[in-house]
Amino acid sequence: MKRIIYIPFDHLHRNFGALKDSDPKNDVIAMIESARMTTGRNWHKERLFFLISSARHFAQLLKDEGFQVEYIKAAATIDGLKIIQEKYKKLPLICAEPSSFRQFDALKNYGVNFVDNDFFLTPRSLFQEWADAQKSYVMESFYRKQRVRLNILMDGKDPIGGSWNFDKENRLPPPKKYEGPKYLEHKTDDLDLQVAKEIGHTPTTTWATTRQGAQDQLKNFIKNHFAEFGPLEDAMTTDNWALHHSLLSPYLNNGLLHPSEVTQAALKAFNTGKIPIESAEGFIRQIIGWREYVNGMYWFLKSDYRENNQLKANRKLLPLFTNPQATQMNCMKETVTDIQNRAWVHHIPRLMLLSNLALITGTNPQAFLDWMREVFIDATEWVMVPNVIGMGVHADGGIMMTKPYAAGGAYISRMSNYCKPCVYNPKLRIGEDACPFTTLYWDFLDRHKEVFIKNHRMSQQVFGLNRLSDLPELKVRAQEVLTGLEQGII
Ligand SMILES: Cc1cc2nc3c(=O)[nH]c(=O)nc-3n(C[C@H](O)[C@H](O)[C@H](O)COP(=O)(O)OP(=O)(O)OC[C@H]3O[C@@H](n4cnc5c(N)ncnc54)[C@H](O)[C@@H]3O)c2cc1C
Ligand code: SF4
Repeated sequence: MKRIIYIPFDHLHRNFGALKDSDPKNDVIAMIESARMTTGRNWHKERLFFLISSARHFAQLLKDEGFQVEYIKAAATIDGLKIIQEKYKKLPLICAEPSSFRQFDALKNYGVNFVDNDFFLTPRSLFQEWADAQKSYVMESFYRKQRVRLNILMDGKDPIGGSWNFDKENRLPPPKKYEGPKYLEHKTDDLDLQVAKEIGHTPTTTWATTRQGAQDQLKNFIKNHFAEFGPLEDAMTTDNWALHHSLLSPYLNNGLLHPSEVTQAALKAFNTGKIPIESAEGFIRQIIGWREYVNGMYWFLKSDYRENNQLKANRKLLPLFTNPQATQMNCMKETVTDIQNRAWVHHIPRLMLLSNLALITGTNPQAFLDWMREVFIDATEWVMVPNVIGMGVHADGGIMMTKPYAAGGAYISRMSNYCKPCVYNPKLRIGEDACPFTTLYWDFLDRHKEVFIKNHRMSQQVFGLNRLSDLPELKVRAQEVLTGLEQGII
């Protein structure tokens, strides 16, 4: 044996990372289930189950191929690596560049040799080059460059369909009583059951833990959902928890699928002529645009970006985030219950419900980030930090997004069916029936008006405060709402 290849639980692909040029005759595989990872935080059990079971299935695949696989439990990754290196007489250790600052430093200090991390479509150095040349880091300009660079959905120099962006067509509210195609269910096998027993969890059938299951999920999306992905992308409804979202993020993030595989499958389907451009473009934008941009920004903005709190938000995490019974807000109750059930909700509830509430209540960004990291099936440091600190709660003062995503009940009422059965009224901003989102939206603008008036994309909204003859009452109601939310009774 010549080398030890360390495979973290988010590098589970045979053809990428350090496994790309591996050989069972020369390479020992090291995989470590660290106690830090399994018991270090209050992880959602579905998430823990998914990560561990996917890794154990992947280890089995490598064994079947003839690799010597050392899959061990240890207090921390480095402890595990020491044990394995002792056994193999100090063979050199290699690994693809890890996906978080913390792991990068730990492995580097231990002396691991890195190969390029090619689990993304954009090398870190290329992103750095793009970012260095920007005045502001607008995703749209990165995305257009990606389209040209990767020659995706291009007609010569022009975008296919005559436009780079079909967002305007992609903002439909949910149709009434919308069922849609059946969800794909994934069966559990013996290995799954063993993991489930060890961690004391009954898994859902929502998530696959194998490469085959991840590929089935991709096929199911392309066949049954892709054509309708775009128009309903932003809609939220209690009739259908996923609408036409792909449910691919967990596999993209742990390596069971590579973004090039997802992009190729999407383009192949688009080339049959059966996928409307607004859906094709909308989905491709997520994969080659948003996902790559967020990863690039994580590395570009450096490790202390995580600690930003430019709006000086210091409220403790509200009880409704951990207990959906601690609120009467129907949208929040439904969303947090969905997360408890399957560790996932789509982009709009993450942004316009969970983050919006954290933003306008002045919840501490790091407390909110920690909670988001713990409860989502697809949460990893590189993706959560920019999405929460930059996009979700504007804690970076506008480095990533030109304006905060703050909204009142009118937006939620338009894009969902949550409001009708709710005890609150999205149109009201004062009084006992007032929607907390509507009240707190105006209160938030008022609290930060000195900062936001200088932002040309926000000034219109701030000027709107002048039209509120009831601002003094609204400020009083906002305090009642904040106290009620803290007590878990609003
Ligand atoms: C506050 C906040 C937190 C988020 N946290 C995560 C997270 O921890 N992990 C995660 O993978 N995504 C995160 N996202 C992005 C997005 O919500 C999820 O990727 C998406 O909901 C996953 O479901 P899906 O696979 O069905 O996505 P689809 O809607 O089908 O989109 C396809 C793919 O695009 C990619 N994508 C789309 N938007 C983003 C984005 N903003 N950042 C990165 N990738 C994106 C994902 O890989 C996703 O699988 C977050 C967004 C917000 C606003
Ligand atoms: S009225 Fe307000 S709190 Fe109730 S569901 Fe609508 S947005 Fe949510």
